[in-house]
Amino acid sequence: MSVTGKTAVVTGSTSGIGLGIATELARQGANVVLNSYTDNEEDHAQARALAEAHGTTVRYIAADMSKPDQCRGLIEAAGVCDILVNNAGIQHVAPIPEFPAEKWDAIIAINMSSAFHTTAVALPMMRAAGWGRVINIASAHGLRASPYKSAYVTAKHGVMGLTKVTALETAQEPITCNAICPGYVLTPMVEQQIPDTAREYGISEEEAVEKVILLKQPSKEFVTVEQLAGMVLFLCSDAAAQVTGTTLTADGGWTAQ
Ligand code: NAD
Repeated sequence: MSVTGKTAVVTGSTSGIGLGIATELARQGANVVLNSYTDNEEDHAQARALAEAHGTTVRYIAADMSKPDQCRGLIEAAGVCDILVNNAGIQHVAPIPEFPAEKWDAIIAINMSSAFHTTAVALPMMRAAGWGRVINIASAHGLRASPYKSAYVTAKHGVMGLTKVTALETAQEPITCNAICPGYVLTPMVEQQIPDTAREYGISEEEAVEKVILLKQPSKEFVTVEQLAGMVLFLCSDAAAQVTGTTLTADGGWTAQ
């Protein structure tokens, strides 16, 4: 089974990891739905450019993954969803006493609850099609904690639980659900964390990268979006038909510690 002709919905896919995964799926012949909440002309132009480059159908559908009805509406608007990549995510870094309640709520909604809502609508579509893949982009922070990331670590641990339940509820069907747990990937999300981390630890931005961010990643190298896209393709392949309810890490050895 290849992804050619399959329809893939990738949440939060106008940037970073989601865009990398969507691009590789289009390159392999999948029809792709790009998503973010912004609905700019650039978002639609990005979809047109991907479609032209790879000769597949690429649509941009705006939906705010912090809103349950819009999460569900995204999958309904897609109409078909053979491959669901729950990728949308945000970050905020602050000690618990200073962590803004609205940031907590937004991170839990976007990074965790959105995956529940999209999966709820996508599973019946996968059942009707007789094949499906749910791939949740969790994080090394779904397996390990770091200070100042209470909401993110909580949400990502929650996604790990949802992954296992989804796998069990689909275990006797040609549908799998797995989590990919990246270590640090140099995307706009991480670029924005560097000054926050420097401020929390009272160090320079260079030191924040070397001594805090890559401290936990024994390889001392960032993971790339291309490597993660390759893992998505593997999970979509026949070789991965019995891989379900588990975790693929790409973290340079972080969670081996
Ligand atoms: P990014 O900031 O580059 O991209 C995030 C995407 O999500 C963007 O397209 C953005 O528009 C979209 N988005 C944000 N809020 C949204 C909302 N409310 N509704 C719809 N879309 C929304 O981030 P990234 O680094 O590519 O992260 C993607 C995923 O990978 C996240 O779930 C993140 O937690 C996870 N992750 C990232 C890293 C890393 O080091 N970058 C590591 C592990 C896991």
